[in-house]
Amino acid sequence: MWKWGSHDQRKRWLPDLIRGDLLGAYCLSEAEAGSDPGAMKTTAVRDGDEYVISGVKTWITHGGEADFYTVMARTSDEGSKGISCFLLPGDAPGISAAAPERKMGLNGSRTSQVSFDKVRVSADRRIGDEGRGLAIALDALDTGRLCIAAVATGVAQAALDYASQYANDRVQFGKPIIDFQGVSFMLADMSARISASRALYIDAARRKDLGMEFGRHAAEAKLFASDTAMAVTTDAVQVFGGAGYTRDYPVERLMREAKIMQIFEGTNQIQRLVIGRHYRERHSSS
Ligand SMILES: Cc1cc2nc3c(=O)[nH]c(=O)nc-3n(C[C@H](O)[C@H](O)[C@H](O)COP(=O)(O)OP(=O)(O)OC[C@H]3O[C@@H](n4cnc5c(N)ncnc54)[C@H](O)[C@@H]3O)c2cc1C
Repeated sequence: MWKWGSHDQRKRWLPDLIRGDLLGAYCLSEAEAGSDPGAMKTTAVRDGDEYVISGVKTWITHGGEADFYTVMARTSDEGSKGISCFLLPGDAPGISAAAPERKMGLNGSRTSQVSFDKVRVSADRRIGDEGRGLAIALDALDTGRLCIAAVATGVAQAALDYASQYANDRVQFGKPIIDFQGVSFMLADMSARISASRALYIDAARRKDLGMEFGRHAAEAKLFASDTAMAVTTDAVQVFGGAGYTRDYPVERLMREAKIMQIFEGTNQIQRLVIGRHYRERHSSS
């Protein structure tokens, strides 16, 4: 909204959207359009001063609870150029959510399929020009990836904090297990990877704050930090031994929470595509 909304839209909705007491949802994914959002089927058909939105979005964070939905929908058949972006009030007639998904983690936030059954919205709820929706969605993902990188770094740091404490406390063969190089080297590798994750996302965030191009940097930060979180939390469980495999200690949960970071806001395979595309475009234009 801040970047793509008109002056009137920003004035009308932005204060409410950023005040912090409204919950938003971002609706891009569909059953047949995950990594390939250009394949989406949800439609927005113009009818006078309104659009009529029909379709089903999957995996929606805050689905069924959101105060507003940012929905990407097809306004023409022109592939990825036929998608537009709409801001829908959460209580618009025709919006309904399925039962929450049963996930391996991320249980503090609801994820649901959301259906749009001929939902009517006034045309002034379209954000940006017709056909700009996918560009808007991908732009939002760049920023989202920064957030995922930061969260993944925090998850990994927590795992290292727990593991290093445990390694100091747990005694085997008459000494704390941290005195065994096999354990302390594991902690050292965890620490180095976390520091690198932090440096990557802070660098990308600074580029964004300075108005510089940051898409590749955000993709690299998300890729590296989430792979690091997965590796570090897995090693943290290892440091705890059998105790790590139980719910009596927090590290098994961190391992489950780390996994989603490699999947949403574009899987890590897609991050590699984004990074690789940067180099292809750079050299094809020179
Ligand atoms: C908990 C959770 C919350 C989510 N929240 C939201 C949300 O709020 N809003 C929203 O719109 N979406 C949301 N998503 C959806 C998420 O963004 C998608 O799950 C993700 O983009 C992957 O799509 P997919 O699940 O359809 O997997 P697929 O696209 O089917 O991919 C399956 C596998 O194939 C690989 N793959 C696919 N294409 C390629 C390729 N070209 N090259 C190499 N490998 C490839 C993928 O990397 C993956 O490993 C959420 C998902 C989860 C699990």
